[in-house]
Amino acid sequence: MFTLSRRLLAACLLACAGLVHAAAPFATTQAPGYYRTTVGEFEVTALSDGTHVFPVDTVMTNITQKQALQDLADVDLKLPVQGSINAFLINTGSKLILVDTGAGALYGPCCGKLLTHLRAAGYQPEQVDEVLITHLHKDHAGGILRDGQAVFPNAVLRLSQAEADYWLTPANKAAAPDFLSTFFDAAQAAVAPYQAAGRYQPYKNFGPLEAGIDALRAPGHTPGHAAYLVQSKGQQLLIWGDIVHVAGIQFPHPSATVKYDSSAPDAQATRRQLLQLAAGKHVTVAAAHIAFPGLGHIRLHQGEYQWLPLNYDETPASRD
Ligand SMILES: [Zn+2]
Repeated sequence: MFTLSRRLLAACLLACAGLVHAAAPFATTQAPGYYRTTVGEFEVTALSDGTHVFPVDTVMTNITQKQALQDLADVDLKLPVQGSINAFLINTGSKLILVDTGAGALYGPCCGKLLTHLRAAGYQPEQVDEVLITHLHKDHAGGILRDGQAVFPNAVLRLSQAEADYWLTPANKAAAPDFLSTFFDAAQAAVAPYQAAGRYQPYKNFGPLEAGIDALRAPGHTPGHAAYLVQSKGQQLLIWGDIVHVAGIQFPHPSATVKYDSSAPDAQATRRQLLQLAAGKHVTVAAAHIAFPGLGHIRLHQGEYQWLPLNYDETPASRD
């Protein structure tokens, strides 16, 4: 009896020890995907829509496969590379303006997390006054609808007229390569509920859209691609959409393009122009596909552009 009890006690001690020292399970998740910064008197919240494997090996053009892989190796990356999808919410103090909306349901379970992160950041979709779209690709406009309904029921949808004309004209779909066919369908579906509700306002002229927000013409990735320059109290944020898809490749080699670019020469020229602008004027950049939160500065160092992620600030609204 005594022997048995000792055995039981020993077993219990081992089990208890096991419990106390049990290996913690991996969490496999990140913190909610939002990140705050300020631009003068505006508060800007970067919102992650998710990450997905960016098919570097099949999508990059105007660069050799060998050079692309070497560029990745130079920044300690190798295939497969996770690519971020970021959107940016601007609170001007009187308006909430969302620039791009993520992929919604169109990229599968990797993505479409923007709404969850918007809510985690303290906002409801009903509060968004305006949605500005950089271009009508799925990973930027897919999140403005769900099951055919407007996700942002009180928001006006704005994008360049040139972008709308390209994607909403049936003859362009017929003339485009096959792999873009579903992009046309998605663009039309995205715009439809806002058109039906009378809240669709494409702009013909680039330039000032709102107090402190200008649309800049940035063609090449798509014909009517826009960047948005946010300015307040002398600070500037350039929300540049798809000017860079893979930072590790396109900073050292800005001439590298992607097969989804509607015009590779225009995409190259626009990229060089905006890299020069951001580096020369120390403008903060908000990038759709640079690692979340996609916020940083650019410097030209010995002839090569470099990405400098924004310094982390635990209380961004309190700084000057
Ligand atoms: Zn994109």
